[in-house]
This record gives sequence, C-alpha cells and structure tokens, in this order.
Amino acid sequence: MSATLIPKASASDAPAWQAALAELGPAFFSRVEPQPLSQPHWIARNGALARELGLDEQWLASQEALFGFAGCAVLPGSQPVASVYSGHQFGVWAGQLGDGRALILGQLQTPQGPVEVQLKGAGRTPYSRMGDGRAVLRSSIREYLCSEAMHGLGIPTTRALCLAGSPSPVLREEVETAAVVTRTAPSFLRFGHFEHFSHGGRHELLRQLADHVIARYYPDCAQAPNPYAALLEAVSRRTASLLAQWQAVGFCHGVMNTDNMSILGLTLDYGPFQFLDAFDPDHICNHSDSGGRYAFKRQPGVAHWNLFCLGQALMPLIDSEDAALQALQAYKGQFEADLTQALRGKLGLLDAEQSQDLALVDDLLQLLARERVDHTIFWRRLCDFRQHPTAVHELFIDRPTFAAWAGRYETRCAHLEPHSQRDFMRQRNPRYVLRNHLGEQAIAAAKSGDHAPLQQLLRVLHAPFEDHPQDAALAGFPPDWAASIEISCSS
Ligand code: AMP
Ligand code: MG
Repeated sequence: MSATLIPKASASDAPAWQAALAELGPAFFSRVEPQPLSQPHWIARNGALARELGLDEQWLASQEALFGFAGCAVLPGSQPVASVYSGHQFGVWAGQLGDGRALILGQLQTPQGPVEVQLKGAGRTPYSRMGDGRAVLRSSIREYLCSEAMHGLGIPTTRALCLAGSPSPVLREEVETAAVVTRTAPSFLRFGHFEHFSHGGRHELLRQLADHVIARYYPDCAQAPNPYAALLEAVSRRTASLLAQWQAVGFCHGVMNTDNMSILGLTLDYGPFQFLDAFDPDHICNHSDSGGRYAFKRQPGVAHWNLFCLGQALMPLIDSEDAALQALQAYKGQFEADLTQALRGKLGLLDAEQSQDLALVDDLLQLLARERVDHTIFWRRLCDFRQHPTAVHELFIDRPTFAAWAGRYETRCAHLEPHSQRDFMRQRNPRYVLRNHLGEQAIAAAKSGDHAPLQQLLRVLHAPFEDHPQDAALAGFPPDWAASIEISCSS
C-alpha cells in the first residue's frame, strides 16, 4: 500500500478519497450525483469514529464536510457511486433492488484498513424504483443511534459517522423532514450482490465479485481446495456468530431480507429493529411483518435460510452440491456454540462447561418468556444476584418457580468467587440498550431542535456496560406507552 494514499494528519485536512468498488468495474455500480437538500444542519457527529478512521475532527466540523455529508456538494476527490444488487424479500425473489437511496462517496485508507463511506438519503439513483431516494429524520436518528449502540455492545455493525438534517419535506404516512446519515463499513456488499449476478446468469461477473471478496476480506479461503465453498462456510460462520450475539442481547432486526445481509457478518440496514423490552420469543418488531417471518425466535433460522440463498447464488462457482451443503452445515454448530457461550457468560459461568448448564439456561429462558420479564433489567440485576437476590426475585410473579431455578443456580455458582463473577457478568449484561421509547424520546426532542436527549442517549449507548448513575432514568422499565409504539418499514 502506498503511503501517499493515507490521509495526512495535519489540522483541517480533508480526507483523501479513493474510488469505491473500482476494482469491480462498471457492471457493479452507477456513478451518481447527490441531489441537494435545502439548509443542511448538523444533528450529530461521531468524534470517536472520526478519530478511529483517522479523520480530522476539525475538518468534520467544517462547512465543507456538512455540505458533503448532507449530499449538497460532492466532496473534492470523491466519485459517488450506487451499487446494484437483488434479493429475496420476505422469502420471495424480488429481482433487482440496489442502492435506491445510498451513495458510496468512496473509500478511505484508515489505520484499520480500507473503509467505505456511504450517504443514505442523498437522493434518487438508477435503483430507486418508485422511491424518492430520501430518508426521514426519524429513521435516520434510529439508524445513527442503533449502529452506535451495537458498536458499544461489541456486536459487529456498520457505523454512523454523522447525521445531517434539513427542513426539506419528505412524504411518508405524513409529511416529515429529510436527513442524511453517513455510515461506514469495510464493505457494504450484501448477499444480494451475489444473487444479482448469479440470477442474471452473469457468472464471470459473479466470479469476479467472489474473488474480490475473498482477496480483500477472506484471504484464507484462497488457499482452500474449493475457495468458493470456503467463502460460503466463512460467511456462514460469521453470520452465525452475529445471530448468536443478537439473540443473547435481545435484538430483533425486523427485515432480514437477503439484501440486508452483510457479506462481512455485520448488522446492516437499521429499519424497524427493536431491542426487546419484555422477553417474548414470538415478538415481531416490524409492524409490516404480519406473518411474523422475522419474529425474534425465527431470526437464527431465517439467517440460515438466507445463507442457502447465498449458497444457491454461489453454486455456479462452487460446482458441487455436497461442498455447498457442507459449508452451510457449519452454521448450526457455530450458532449453537456461540449462543451457549454467550448465555453461559451472561449467567456468569466463567468456569468450564458442566453437563447441567444447558438445562439451566433453557429453563431460565422458558421462565423469562412465560413471565414476560424485562430482558435487559433481568440480566443486569442477575449480575448482583448473590449480593441482592430480592431484586431479582421481585421480577417474577410465580416466585416459587423462580426460587426453584435460583436454588439450582446458587448451587452451580457456589464455588465461584462472587465479586469476580459479578464483574464478569457486568461486562456481558448491558445496563443500557436502545429501547424503542428512548429512541422515540430522542427523536421527538430532535424534531423540536433539542439534541440534548440524543447526546445523552449516545453517551450511555457508547458504554452500555457502565453504570452512568446520572443517567439511571435511561436504564428503567419502559413506560406503558412503549408497548403501543409501531415501527414499520416506512423510513
Ligand atoms: P429496505 O427495506 O430499506 O432494505 O429497502 C429495500 C430496497 O428499497 C433497497 O433497494 C432500498 O434502496 C430501496 N429503498 C427503500 N426506501 C427507498 C426510498 N425512499 N427511495 C429509494 N429507494 C428506497
Ligand atoms: Mg436495505
């Protein structure tokens, strides 16, 4: 890598853009100019991420950056592109989709390697179909908050660099205002990119895409006897690990279509997502998902189904049904191993696994589901169970049944040192998650020009395992009205 490609570190330096997806060529994207919004203004800037990327924070605060990241001007050196992909939506082949409102500004060389920078909501592209290419402030704040919440939890995700608002009207169920989120990821490639070239019968382009992804992100696969089967297995494993982390923290994605599945196993495309309040495995967070295809408990199975779509798309390259099925087989073992490890960690079982651990976990999850116990509060209080058992018992209506489980748990933990166990658990059971009602409150305030609740929420979500005593109100039970919040695909 040439040293001249690395952005210079001197103050107020603009980033040095490289063309994104350039190695792939014109079949993969279209050059697009953003469509300016009126009177752009900052809603939020992510100083921590700017530093990680090696971006100059002073430059990020500049008028040039505001106009560039609001899509009002093309930043010097940037060559924005929208990429083309297809996908299965709600289990049905949807044909060509593509970046209908996303523009990749380019790629930056960062201390962590190349990172793509993308605007969401900067106007129409050749892939907008009937859409307006815009995103509303409400959904953009949700995306900004949740990508940073996921990062704070240590769960792989695209990141949010900044958020610009505009008074320009956008019509959804009602008239709202526009916003543009700038998000970053090593790559925004999705399962749907592979499906696009495979279903179109363009197998040489499919091979080029797969080779690009292997060379850049999965170099070990190049050595395997069947590199494309190895890629499918590696993506299956990463996806399994991601799903285990979602299930352990109580995250519901809401629209797990294959076009929203990252080839890098990142949480991608924040729409009608939700962190569970009460633990309900049947919970459906997407108001538009009447059949419950993406209900919380179905997510791991849906991810596996999506991987089969990826496998199908890669078949012209893998060329062996056995090899493809074997690669996909890796998903289940990886998911179960990761979920068991995550749940044992949440219980503070920091010693070697014992034969009764799985039953202890399963029985607890059944009890939590039956009683609809608040997921985040239960697990956080459990960290202090050995010091303050009553606070946990209080969460249950059927106390005798919980007491019976708690007795087994105490016996299992008896030989573990209580304080180190508590500290271990506090690193695995967040005090703060982005509950729907907290997002709604921050959105309502931001709509009236008050960004303080958004900043307060971001502060705790960046470090969700810490106590933040001054922000304790954000760690409480959801208010009654939280249950009636309806989040649809409208964004
Ligand atoms: P989503 O359900 O948000 O993942 O979007 C599915 C597809 O619709 C993607 O191709 C998006 O780019 C596209 N899309 C969603 N909303 C809009 C919009 N307002 N304008 C243009 N395209 C959109
Ligand atoms: Mg999407």
